[in-house]
Amino acid sequence: RAEQQLAVRVLRLEDGNVLVIADDRSAALRVQASARDFMANATHELKTPVGAITLLGEAVEQAADDPDAVVRFSRKIQAESSRLSLLVAQIVQLSRLQGQAPANAERLEVDEVIGSALDRSRQLAEARRISLTLGGVRGLVVRGSREQLVTALANLVHNAITYSDDKARVVVTTRPVEDAERGDRIAIAVSDNGIGISAEDTRRIFERFYRVDYARSRQTGGTGLGLSIVAEIVEGHGGEVAVWSKLGSGSTFTITLPAAPAEEEVA
Ligand code: ADP
Repeated sequence: RAEQQLAVRVLRLEDGNVLVIADDRSAALRVQASARDFMANATHELKTPVGAITLLGEAVEQAADDPDAVVRFSRKIQAESSRLSLLVAQIVQLSRLQGQAPANAERLEVDEVIGSALDRSRQLAEARRISLTLGGVRGLVVRGSREQLVTALANLVHNAITYSDDKARVVVTTRPVEDAERGDRIAIAVSDNGIGISAEDTRRIFERFYRVDYARSRQTGGTGLGLSIVAEIVEGHGGEVAVWSKLGSGSTFTITLPAAPAEEEVA
């Protein structure tokens, strides 16, 4: 029977009504399978630092007579613990987002959002003598969640710094984009002249937990979740994220968001 082919999603609305959405079963199964994959990957990724911390704890105990070794192992425990907290925080962030529109959307000055995102990486950039600059058109406005958009941009800026050599340049540029079909949009590009990404890898970098160079990413504290968080946030805002990159020359990640409608005049 036709009904048996359908999976249903039941949403409880704010006014107390219930909305039932019929999904085709294969789509529902696909979602289930990707949730299962995510759980399996997350479990695997979480086990790595947990296992390391357990072993390092035993090593500290055995090295009780060697103060230098105790300090060395303790530092490693601290590094693995911060990695574990970052992983947990990002997994929680992703599970909350799921590409949904933000509940706390407001009018936002794009320059101000970018400024906050850059502030989060200033220390890291200074330590590596990387310049952070903002260029393009000033005074653009979007509608969205301040916290989410700062997070998305901060992730891109953090990557631009992480995957560049010392003394590199990271530039954030803003511009309005006319789009007759979808309405005016705003593009925010984060460019670096760093290590770049091969064409083959650019297709996969938005996948959860995907890292081009596992060893390098792990060494720099990467989780492989930063760009999936960017994609979820941007999609939830009705935008999209694109990447242009050339191995050895650098990368540009561009977020495009709908421009905020003009403010209604208050009579
Ligand atoms: P990670 O936590 O590993 O940085 P992301 O999801 O943020 O995870 O990025 C996925 C992978 O994409 C990274 O491991 C890195 O290999 C690559 N990548 C992301 N941004 C850049 C960039 N600006 N330049 C070069 N490679 C990048």
